Amino acid sequence: MTTSPASELLAKGKQYYLPIYRQRELVLERGQGARIWDSEGREYIDLSAGIAVCGLGHNDPDLVAALVEQAGKLWHTSNVFHSEPPLRLAEELVASSRFASRVFLCNSGAEANEAAIKLVRKWAAGQGRAPDKRVIVTFRGSFHGRTLATVTATAQPKYQEGYEPLPGGFRYVDFNDLTQLEIAMAAGDVAAVMLEPVQGEGGVMPAAPGFLSGVRELCDHHGALLVLDEIQSGMGRTGTLFAHWQDGVTPDIVTLAKALGGGFPIGAMLAGPKVAEAMQFGAHGTTFGGNPLAAAVARVALRKLASPAIANNVARQSAALRKSLADIDAELGLFSLVRGRGLMLGAVLKPAHAGRASEILDHAAAHGVLLLQAGPDVLRFVPALNIHDDELAEGCKRLHLALRQFVGK
Ligand code: PLP
Repeated sequence: MTTSPASELLAKGKQYYLPIYRQRELVLERGQGARIWDSEGREYIDLSAGIAVCGLGHNDPDLVAALVEQAGKLWHTSNVFHSEPPLRLAEELVASSRFASRVFLCNSGAEANEAAIKLVRKWAAGQGRAPDKRVIVTFRGSFHGRTLATVTATAQPKYQEGYEPLPGGFRYVDFNDLTQLEIAMAAGDVAAVMLEPVQGEGGVMPAAPGFLSGVRELCDHHGALLVLDEIQSGMGRTGTLFAHWQDGVTPDIVTLAKALGGGFPIGAMLAGPKVAEAMQFGAHGTTFGGNPLAAAVARVALRKLASPAIANNVARQSAALRKSLADIDAELGLFSLVRGRGLMLGAVLKPAHAGRASEILDHAAAHGVLLLQAGPDVLRFVPALNIHDDELAEGCKRLHLALRQFVGK
């Protein structure tokens, strides 16, 4: 097979894909650690990690070995039959979660959240609550996925417009506002509160100190479940395997995806003892979820991402990244603040540069560093959690040059 020039490949994307994405004008071909190369041989430092997915970087030898070994044995069984990798993964997820007793394996974040929403409803139904007493409260700025139910849980109109009628039974309040939540729960019709410990797509916005424990208290008071979407914040990204460990709360349901498979699609919903028996035979299902290939890879990703070495590196590189962003800002004065936890950081653009994050990403790519935005005003950094000192330093150097060009210096 001959490789086509990038321009030819890019034209195919424009012609054949649904025009729902605005990819950058490059075709990525191979990766190693936090470095990635395009089809023209250009090298980039990857501070995006496939949107917080490649927690162990690209081409991790242990993930590759797990994938290759399983590929030679058995790819797929469906959930009509058992295979060993998902059975072991389920046990390991339960053990590492510190709260869950059962697991549902699926293929993506949206599916994990869809399962969580359905589990909440089934649990509430089992409690004899009428359908109008099964409300799920979510927070403005959240992102929970693109299926109809998860996009309805996503309290951002831009993702919902044109898809009405949306499923009912969702209510929205401001993030980090316990007073609003208290009012929203006062009628006694709320079955669950669902949130990200650090909002990702909504601008890298961490829960304020005490917020999650306040939410837990309100849930307990009103007989509602606490559902935590750790799809982006989980798997070591914020410095602990689960971000909510830093908030000292015990959830009822946690959803995972993204870094769980290190780049191989897999999602999981973890259910605590209160809800673990609420769905019985036939209540939910999936053909591919818990696929042996995905599960074999995820077992290795989980083991490595839960290690103290990763936690130490996240703390170290988070401090280094914050320092580099502060140094860049001292010269260029671009950011109003840098927020987030661990290696999930957002640099908020000052009002003078509001709405220009995408433009900055183009400059960055042209200078050999890939990053993300979180909305139009925030530069988002979610690199591999095992990124090396020299890779991060080089990425920041390139970003500095890109930002100098952006401000015309
Ligand atoms: N929840 C959160 C917090 C996310 O960040 C995302 C994806 O960005 C999702 C859910 C949806 O995951 P997926 O795109 O795998 O369906």
